[in-house]
Amino acid sequence: MNIFAAHCRDIHFFMLKKVIFLGLLLLVFGSTSFAQELKKEWNRNTIPDIEQKMIIQGLIDVQKANPDILVELKYATTDNFMRKNVYEDLTRAYLQPEMAKRLAKAATLLKQSKPGYQLLVYDAARPNSVQYNLWNALDDLKIPAKSKTQYVADPKIGSNHNFGCAVDLTVVDEKGKPLDMGTSFDFFGPLAYPRSEQEMLKKGKLTQKQIENRQILRKVMTQAGFKTNTTEWWHFDGMSKSQARARYGMIK
Ligand SMILES: [Zn+2]
Repeated sequence: MNIFAAHCRDIHFFMLKKVIFLGLLLLVFGSTSFAQELKKEWNRNTIPDIEQKMIIQGLIDVQKANPDILVELKYATTDNFMRKNVYEDLTRAYLQPEMAKRLAKAATLLKQSKPGYQLLVYDAARPNSVQYNLWNALDDLKIPAKSKTQYVADPKIGSNHNFGCAVDLTVVDEKGKPLDMGTSFDFFGPLAYPRSEQEMLKKGKLTQKQIENRQILRKVMTQAGFKTNTTEWWHFDGMSKSQARARYGMIK
């Protein structure tokens, strides 16, 4: 009887430990996702400091320029080549006013030529402090110092994104699905190079349809006044880096 009672006590103790453990798990993970939801809701209704600083420096929220533009900043999620959110509170896309105006025009041109299709912005203005976050995050990937510029521009020099004069984007169809461009955003290699498209087509690595999809994006962006990039189908510049530096300076 005593043995049986002791056994029951052990079972009760074991069950109690299990309940406490599960409760703790729920508390930690439950509250984390709750906190994340709270943060998202907070961001939807407020303008974080990082964005306020950009507004003070004269930058424009592209969705205010044209609400048809969709935005999903990939560096504000873990869906990027670093698998890390390096943008933190920055979730809206900002550009210099002239660039935002051009992007708004591209969105209108797209709507006219392909009704139902929309521009989806992956990246736009990037304050220099965030450029340092990106640069430093490469160390976690064990990228050797001399190869880092193959992935991210040196923050001391800056990229056109740091001047608010570059935008990374794609096109989504009527269902909101990104068109098949042959590679994902931030794919490193010739398959993403606009200059290598014909070669990739001949080798059977890109299809005619994928090239045509890229051309839909390129057509509206160049008509709106942006320049294409030779190695990234998603990247467009409003002007050269030296012009951007002289006209606007780096975003702080
Ligand atoms: Zn870019």
